[in-house]
Amino acid sequence: MSAANPTPGGPLVEGPHDPEHDPRASYALEPDYVASLTDRVLSTTGRTVPVSSPLDGAPLANIPQSSLEDVAEAYRRARVAQAAWARTPVEERAAVLLRLHDLVLDRQAEIMDLIVLESGKARKHAFDEPIHIALTARYYARTAHEHLDTQRKTGVIPVLTRVELNRVPKGVVGIISPWNYPFTMALCDGLPALLAGNAVVTKPDAQTMLSALLGARLLEEAGFPRDLWQVVAGPGRELGGPMIERSDYICFTGSTATGRIIAKQCAERLIGCSLELGGKNPILVLRDADIEKAAEGAVRACFSNAGQLCVSTERMFVADQVYDRFVERFVARTQAMTLGATLDWGNDMGPLISQDQLDTVTAHVEDAVAKGARVLAGGKPRPDLAPYFFEPTILEGVTPEMTCFGNETFGPVISLYRFHDEVEAVARANDGEYGLNASVYSQDGDRARAIARQIKCGTVNINEAFGATFASIDSPMGGMRESGMGRRHGAEGIHRYTESQSVATQRVLRFSPQYGLSDQAYAKVMTASLRVLNKLGRA
Ligand code: NAD
Repeated sequence: MSAANPTPGGPLVEGPHDPEHDPRASYALEPDYVASLTDRVLSTTGRTVPVSSPLDGAPLANIPQSSLEDVAEAYRRARVAQAAWARTPVEERAAVLLRLHDLVLDRQAEIMDLIVLESGKARKHAFDEPIHIALTARYYARTAHEHLDTQRKTGVIPVLTRVELNRVPKGVVGIISPWNYPFTMALCDGLPALLAGNAVVTKPDAQTMLSALLGARLLEEAGFPRDLWQVVAGPGRELGGPMIERSDYICFTGSTATGRIIAKQCAERLIGCSLELGGKNPILVLRDADIEKAAEGAVRACFSNAGQLCVSTERMFVADQVYDRFVERFVARTQAMTLGATLDWGNDMGPLISQDQLDTVTAHVEDAVAKGARVLAGGKPRPDLAPYFFEPTILEGVTPEMTCFGNETFGPVISLYRFHDEVEAVARANDGEYGLNASVYSQDGDRARAIARQIKCGTVNINEAFGATFASIDSPMGGMRESGMGRRHGAEGIHRYTESQSVATQRVLRFSPQYGLSDQAYAKVMTASLRVLNKLGRA
């Protein structure tokens, strides 16, 4: 790759190295820089897998691969590190997270360079990743005591039963993450796990290991002990099972198909898991929507990271009264997008990450067109821009027999539908098995919030694409139905990594007859006490 605009102080080289003569070299990254990242993979196999950039196919790195013994060793090291870490005061753990907050903001250019090189996404979409890590780190650091401190609970006998709830770390958490947001998806779910006193073993997606490895390095630079965060590399179907066998909890982000496999394996071991899976997310544009705002939000909702975003929109339901005006503005904005495959700011959309992704997106659009859908914008691959580029595409007239009607495309393709009444629109939005994210555009907040309550999705954004819910870390995020189990963010996002332990201290009265009472008399006293407590309104 040309590396025409290297970021000052970042990892990019001025001129191309030649990988044919220096096996460590890539056209885009300093060999020593790449080695300083790939060294973090726990690997003794001597085997590597090459990765190249979707921007132009240039080689980026050779990623060392982990054996099953390497996975076992990663868990051994993590367990030793966790035992010491669990004794570290919460205050100190939180302080490391706050240092990470500043570190990712300081190093955002380096982080974004790697993300763009590995995933191909536009730089403005890569920016979301360090920001999400900073938000997550700060939120959990500032709320550490609220979520983790021992809490007093109501005892069964007032005054005489003292109950405390402890949050005990699970131990070692396994995190399996996808390629689409390679820095934040590899890291964000691990931050509350560490804060709660756990160690982590991660297996990031094979296509985007460098971004995940940079995350691991930044954790160490912030002050987390190195062994607390282990990274293994290799195919998910080979390493997933051995990870689940050794984990005390699994956090998975990826497709619904893989999520099902992981849920079964976790069930076999009786360990918990959280699954953040796919979606076929709807937007509702109501008759009183601000059309310009809705068209601007729709572009971000549909085409951020070329639609390879779990919360991005693939179905749009627009009220009859505003349909034509909205479509005109949405199509105009889409056609005005700057498409490009470069590292710099200025692109509104980059390429897809891989040939597989391009094949899926192309197949969905060709199938829809062959069965009668109309293309209002885009509709074609753009190999002139990058090998896996596909235009932002708006379809009209999509029907249930078309593949893209109910199946996740995970690309820049949106189907537009007209609706006549809101009850019908909500029913159509709730169609199918997914339930991840939705948006409602309306100038009447109360009405929009009432509609949100009827939508079967884990997050609903009013007058916004997805950022309002995703970036509000105090509130849980995740999927209903086949879009997932469990939640990231908020109290649920950290309590999933703890065991609840109740400790009750009993004084004076015990739970059996005393003072010469018979069992029958004891039962009468207890019954009377319960009636009194109910009269007093006690829980
Ligand atoms: P995927 O399920 O194929 O892969 C995700 C991860 O799982 C990768 O690291 C992969 O190596 C690993 N994996 C694959 N098979 C495995 C197995 N049998 N056991 C254990 N691990 C295995 O998904 P993908 O195609 O890489 O990602 C795209 C999907 O992820 C989309 O459906 C998207 O909606 C979803 N996603 C969801 C969220 C969310 O927060 N809900 C976020 C990002 C992506």
